Amino acid sequence: MVRPERPPWAVRIQAARDVAEPGKMPQAELQTITIDWPEEDARLSDLAATEILDTEPEPSFDAITRLSAEYFRADSVLLGFADASRVWIKSYWGEAVRELPRRWSIFEMVLAKDGPVVVPDISKNPYFRDGRMTLRRLEVVSFASAPVRSFDGRILGALTVFGCQPRRTMALDELRMLESLADMVASQLELRRLRKCIAGQGVRHPRAKRDVSGKWPGKADLRHALEQREFVLYYQPEVELSTRRIVGLEALIRWSHPVRGLVPPMDFIPLAEECGMIMPIGDWGLSEVCNQIHNWCLDDPAHQSLRVCVNLSARQFAREGLADHVEALLRQSGISSRQLGLEMTESSLIPDMGTALDVLGSLRRLGVSLLMDDFGTGYSSLSYLHSFPIDVLKIDRSFVGRMTEGEQPLQIVRTIIELARVLGMDVVAEGIETSEQYHLLRNLGCRYGQGFLFARPMPVETLNMLLRLPGRVLPDPGISTPLPA
Ligand code: C2E
Ligand code: MG
Ligand code: MG
Repeated sequence: MVRPERPPWAVRIQAARDVAEPGKMPQAELQTITIDWPEEDARLSDLAATEILDTEPEPSFDAITRLSAEYFRADSVLLGFADASRVWIKSYWGEAVRELPRRWSIFEMVLAKDGPVVVPDISKNPYFRDGRMTLRRLEVVSFASAPVRSFDGRILGALTVFGCQPRRTMALDELRMLESLADMVASQLELRRLRKCIAGQGVRHPRAKRDVSGKWPGKADLRHALEQREFVLYYQPEVELSTRRIVGLEALIRWSHPVRGLVPPMDFIPLAEECGMIMPIGDWGLSEVCNQIHNWCLDDPAHQSLRVCVNLSARQFAREGLADHVEALLRQSGISSRQLGLEMTESSLIPDMGTALDVLGSLRRLGVSLLMDDFGTGYSSLSYLHSFPIDVLKIDRSFVGRMTEGEQPLQIVRTIIELARVLGMDVVAEGIETSEQYHLLRNLGCRYGQGFLFARPMPVETLNMLLRLPGRVLPDPGISTPLPA
């Protein structure tokens, strides 16, 4: 790396470090210093690894700046990353700023303090020699800024909220909120980096389409199967990891073909999506699940606490009347909206975000749970996570399956759990197959999970035996014989 001439900002960093004390703002008076070049090189190399400076302003961060503006009632918010000489703004709210000189920047103050900086009134702060600071047209009077750190803890940038009025000093929980928002940026960066790293290492593409050009099945076969009632729903338990109590079920469709036997969904759902048959098949599945929930509750009212989830395809989401349809099904079957969950993938929402937003909003108002399936394999963009009213992130099983193989997949899982925590969502880990994965997930703070270790998807009759277990608690997979397949 070519080192620039020793820049003036380095002098101020050390100066600030020397005098920074809790409650006191860093001053800028010392003039001599030995620059910690290895540390700065390491910081720049962490920054380069994120590839954030190679991109245009990132809409995926806009949700965070907007959320910060709303929470702090800020007049402007900037998210910037600093190289040796400039702070590159990757998302702004309020004043449209693209870049700033690093010299005398707020980033330097954050770097100097090695933590968040709050300035309730600029005119009273000696760092701002003439007592003024402007951000384009905005006369800034107060600000608060939190560091965005690399995985190794180095400060790459800062998330800053600005006000044009003096403000009281920040309460501790407000400061924690700002830091959490900055951590969300860091999580997003890390998630992107790791996804790039393991791309091509065999991670399953979400809903990878099988070759549907073959002769079987065709659209007529699907229509025939629907008429002949050949589709069946299997159910896989979802458990609370700490207790192994069954808290929910996922309905998974199969085609019980008279000659070919039990056909898995990936052998016919892609075709059904392509030829439009997914609508009637999906409607059948939804109505079947609602009736089944009703029957379980008749068997035992305690089952009212179960949430049964149905997978929905992109086409089903593109239909504005979906919420009305679901509402009618809930009414007909007499079940509560709390008992139903709808699973969707990131890719099914993206093509028509406007409609998806409306549909999800209406479903949320109905009170059904919304789950983001196969999370981590698609866009993993915070902007829609924030805009869409999602209740649960389901960590894709490709990550869970590789968790014990190395640090990277483990880190992805850790990052998703942390993301969900900050966003106030629940997390379900999919595809838990080994005790090792189970214990790792528990230690990482993941609350819910499903997988062959606990139970495979099974027909209603088999599942009923599990639902009758005391407290619906499954045996410890470490010491018991395998459950029925
Ligand atoms: P999904 O929603 O992610 O469902 C989870 C898949 O992982 C299921 O495959 C399940 O059997 C499998 N699985 C669960 N635990 C484990 C485990 O521990 N290890 C492994 N290796 N796999 C595990 P399945 O049933 O073949 O379904 C595949 C996909 O088909 C589903 O993925 C879902 O996207 C789609 N699908 C299933 N039913 C429906 C449906 O009714 N409608 C629509 N649109 N899609 C459906
Ligand atoms: Mg699913
Ligand atoms: Mg899934």
